[in-house]
Formats: sequence, structure tokens, C-alpha cells
Amino acid sequence: PDQPMTTQEVVEWTKKLNYGTWRYQKSWNPMHIVDAEGCYFTDANGKRYLDFSAQLMCSNLGHKNAAVIKAIADQAQKLAYIMPSYATDARVELSRLLLEVLPEGITKFFFTTSGTEANEAAFKIARMYTGKTKIIARYRSYHGSTMASIAATGDPRRWAMEPGGKGQGFLFAPEVNCYKCPIKHTYPECGIACADYLEHMIENESDVAAVIVEPVVGTNGVLVPPKEYFPKLREICDRRGVLLIADEVMSGWGRTGEWFAVDHWGVKPDILVTAKGITSAYVPLGLCATTGKIAEYFEDHFFAHGHTYEAHPITLAPAVAAIREMQRLNLINRAKEVGAYLGEKLKALKPKHPSIGEVRGLGMFWAIELVRDQEKKTPFNTKQDKVDGKATVVDQVAAEMLKRGVSIQAWISHFVIAPPLIIEKAEIDTAVDALDQALAIADKAL
Ligand code: PMP
Repeated sequence: PDQPMTTQEVVEWTKKLNYGTWRYQKSWNPMHIVDAEGCYFTDANGKRYLDFSAQLMCSNLGHKNAAVIKAIADQAQKLAYIMPSYATDARVELSRLLLEVLPEGITKFFFTTSGTEANEAAFKIARMYTGKTKIIARYRSYHGSTMASIAATGDPRRWAMEPGGKGQGFLFAPEVNCYKCPIKHTYPECGIACADYLEHMIENESDVAAVIVEPVVGTNGVLVPPKEYFPKLREICDRRGVLLIADEVMSGWGRTGEWFAVDHWGVKPDILVTAKGITSAYVPLGLCATTGKIAEYFEDHFFAHGHTYEAHPITLAPAVAAIREMQRLNLINRAKEVGAYLGEKLKALKPKHPSIGEVRGLGMFWAIELVRDQEKKTPFNTKQDKVDGKATVVDQVAAEMLKRGVSIQAWISHFVIAPPLIIEKAEIDTAVDALDQALAIADKAL
């Protein structure tokens, strides 16, 4: 058709021809987004939305960053694609830059096009390297959507793939959640019993290759572990000869106020997985990065893995530009400072709203967990409500926020708040005011 489509047509065709992810198709009613700038995106009616969750794509730099856009264009002009078996300037430049920002000792890189694929690579590398099979993950975690990465996922998104034992080789330890400890302890008297529990699992299982954790849990509610947890987990993995995989797909790239969340505790994983913020969301790029020791093993052992789009130049060049922009704009410090401001503003909501159970986070990475009863910490919704596709109270609050021009991500009983790292304090004020108003819906539903 020569005529531009109306918004109604764009939405109808989208629903007719495409799958909407993680939902009943009937309930999908996507907004038609046509433009974006900085921390805002704009729908076809010209209404602007402040992106208070950065769409969970972890766009640190926001939209229309000139340097990243130029890097994409320049690379497309120069060398748009090439088989990954050839050497390219883009891969070397990015790899050398990674040595500057990744935890020390992580020195060999495999580039994918998503966080999911990067986790798949991590599982295969861990299995090939150790000669063992089992991977211990934790509940309230997300590691991806493909068969192995969903099997490692400790939340309801895994359930549809459970029958038939498809998730073989993945075991779950309790999540680390000091607000509502699943093993009923209280910090700090607990002595980090959750880490002991994990060690107990390793001790009583045969064939454990690795433990995979999100150092700060992302979509499942920004769960920040107590400071003793990671050093203790590192020590357990070393003592038991098990690899530690840090999934920093969400917590990486300055989100928590350090380049990577593990940097808060000075812990070095054996494998670090990341994606999203590595290109500030501009192009699809994932990374599975290992220690030199693991890399050495593959010098004379077959590395049985690869993709057509692995290390694709158009994904690598903008990552170089995005990381340099983060350095130039000093965004790690900004995440710390402006993030602390964001945290204070969010915490100030709690005394005003009986529906808020906890406000928690680190850097520019926060969650608000809603409860029916602050004392008993009863969640507003169950996981089953989500799987059944019910419009939960958090969904209703998020819809009200959209009406007020702020986009915020809701999941089961909490919101994840993770704006672009360039967000200004005045924009935070506007968004938190909107949230203050919208939370009346949850308070009323008590
Ligand atoms: N791990 C974590 C911690 C994530 O948050 C995600 C995505 N939300 C993934 C893995 C999967 O990444 P992708 O969607 O890029 O495949």
C-alpha cells in the first residue's frame, strides 16, 4: 500500500501476524511507538512517555545517542557482515575495551546476539570444561527463554516447559531475599544460611558443574544479597570445585553503581554473562566471558559452539561507542549519585502507602514490592495469577502510570525501576510523583 498505515492498522497487523511474548495473545494491545529521544519515547498520537524502567533493555545512554548511531552507520558502510572466523577491527577493539572494565581475570570472550544465547554458551562451556552436567540456579531468577536457559530460570516463565523432564540437569536453591527469607532466617543472625544451603546441595548431588546466579536479581524484584553472600559463595565454589557463573545481563554496565554488580563485593566469577547495556540496547549483543584458566582448557580441547551472527561487526562497533560514551559521561558515578537520590525518593513513598511492602535497590536499580499486609508481607498476587493472565494490581498501577506519561515495568507483585543512567533529578521527581498518585489504586485494593 502506498498510503501510510493508520495506527489502528499497525496495531491490528501486529496482533494478527506476530506473537506477543509471555502473554495470552488476546490480551496483547501494543502501543504504536514512532519516535524517541533521551529518556522518552513517543507514541503515534505524539504523547511522550518517560521510560522509568528503560524497558528493561538497560539503555544507559537513552535514545538518539549520536556516537552510538554514528558507530552503527560507519560500521555498516565499512564492513556490514563477515563470517566470525575472520578477524575484524571491531572485535579486537571491543575485546580490548572489555579488559578495562570487566572484573580482573576475565580475559576471553564469546559474542552472541542475546543474553539467552550467552547463558547457553556459559552452560556448554561449564559442562565441557568440568566434564560435569548439573547446574544449580536459584528460585526467583531469570536466565533466558531457550530450552536450557529457561530450564535454569527459577520463575513461572519456566513452567510451560516443565512437563516431560525437559529441564534436565538444572536444580534450584532458595533465592536470597532478606525481606522475606525463604528459609525463615533473619539477617545478620542467619550467618548467611542461604549460602550454606547451596553448599549442602552441592555436597549431596553428584556431577555439579556450576552455580549460576544473578548477582543482583533483576526482573524478579531487584534482590540485593547481603555483603557476605558473594565472598562466601565464591569460597564454597572454590572449595567444592564448582564454577561460578555471574549472569550480569541486567545488573551489569553501571546499573548498580559499579561496572558490574560483582564489583561491589570484589568477587571474580569464572564466567560472566552479559548483554543489554553492553550496547546500551541499540543493537542485539550478548557476551559470555571466561577466565584465562577456562580459556586455556580449550587451547587443545574442541570448542563445540558457534553461531552465524556471533561477533557480528554491526553489533560490536556500537558496543565500543556505548562503553566509551559511558566512560566520557562518567555514568558509573552518575548511577551511584543520582541512583541514591532515586532510592531516597522511592523510600519516602513507603510511609504514605500501606500497599508498599519494601523499597529496595542499589545504584539506578530499584524495586517496589506491593503487599496486602505489611505485617505479614502477603504478596498482592500469586505467581499463578500471572500465569493465568490476570490483570494484577501492579499491572493496573503500571497502566495508570502510562496514562500519566511514565512507563514502568510490573511483574507479579512488584515494579522494577531502572531508568536510563542519564536521567535528571527533575525527571525522577516527575516520575515518582506520578507513582505516588498511581499507588492509590493499590492502597484502595487492600
Ligand atoms: N539473564 C537475565 C538476568 C535477564 O534479565 C535476561 C533478560 N531479561 C536474560 C538473561 C535473557 O536475555 P535476552 O532477553 O537478551 O535473551
